[in-house]
Amino acid sequence: MLQKFDQRNKDLLVYVKDGLYHRDEAKVSVFDSVVQGGDAVWEGLRVYDGRIFSLDEHLERLQNSAHALDFKDIPGNEEIKEALFQTLKANNMRDGVHVRLTLTRGEKITSGMDPRLNQFGCTLIVLAEFKSPVYPDSITLITSSIRRNNPMFLDSKIHHNNLLNNIQAKIESNYAGADAGIMLDKDGFVAEANGVNLFCIYKGKVMTPFAHACLPGITRALVIELCKENDIPVEERNLSMTEFYTADEVFCTGTMGELTRVGEIDGRKIINRSGKERFKELSGLFNAITKKAGTPIPK
Ligand code: PMP
Repeated sequence: MLQKFDQRNKDLLVYVKDGLYHRDEAKVSVFDSVVQGGDAVWEGLRVYDGRIFSLDEHLERLQNSAHALDFKDIPGNEEIKEALFQTLKANNMRDGVHVRLTLTRGEKITSGMDPRLNQFGCTLIVLAEFKSPVYPDSITLITSSIRRNNPMFLDSKIHHNNLLNNIQAKIESNYAGADAGIMLDKDGFVAEANGVNLFCIYKGKVMTPFAHACLPGITRALVIELCKENDIPVEERNLSMTEFYTADEVFCTGTMGELTRVGEIDGRKIINRSGKERFKELSGLFNAITKKAGTPIPK
């Protein structure tokens, strides 16, 4: 699964700091914190039929991530929303769009690690692209040798741009011919895959790892909520690879790929012995919500 260039994106207008620029001109300074230390936070959002899905939840996570990293002069939600709407309107985008929203600590007066060198406020980047959900119907995973950070090292609850662990897991999965790499936590329990949260279903019960060493995904939270609302048993707990190999169904969740079935992990086919099709049910419930919920983009 490798994304391809989409011609509709060739003349994108991208919001950087204070206005819109053609994609060829949209740039950050070499003194920006994101260049100096990957010192930035981000969100991936999706637009369905004129509505930005789960916008408030994404903005809350962005604000929390920036505050936890002690960014100064963080733009308020109204300012960020204005930049988002402006970007979507300028590109005439209302459906089938993915937005990568990045907030860096900003530009430094000289290169260096010290956040006190950041004296110009944060840099906000709104990169909106036409992009359909990225995964095929069913994907294959491998277990990566790269562990996912837990709060002992770098808290996975901060949605930051230090993605090298995840990128290394993705490299391993590429060489193995798989779609993504599963990252374990420090104790060997499943944390998540390199860019998506993981769920397994056993005898009708839906289970997902605690959010101790994974991103507390917004799609993950929605799936848990959907289970509770529809009387589907659901539990967050430690889960081992064996429990994933032997589950009746396995799926992953994320804004980019929505809900996607996992067909194989480390060469083991996921075989449904339960006679129940929970994944289809959950994915139907999720799709129904995307058809009506979200923040409307002003005309
Ligand atoms: N895990 C990681 C590491 C991610 O980067 C993402 C997407 N940003 C997710 C999970 C899925 O999160 P969400 O459902 O909020 O898109």
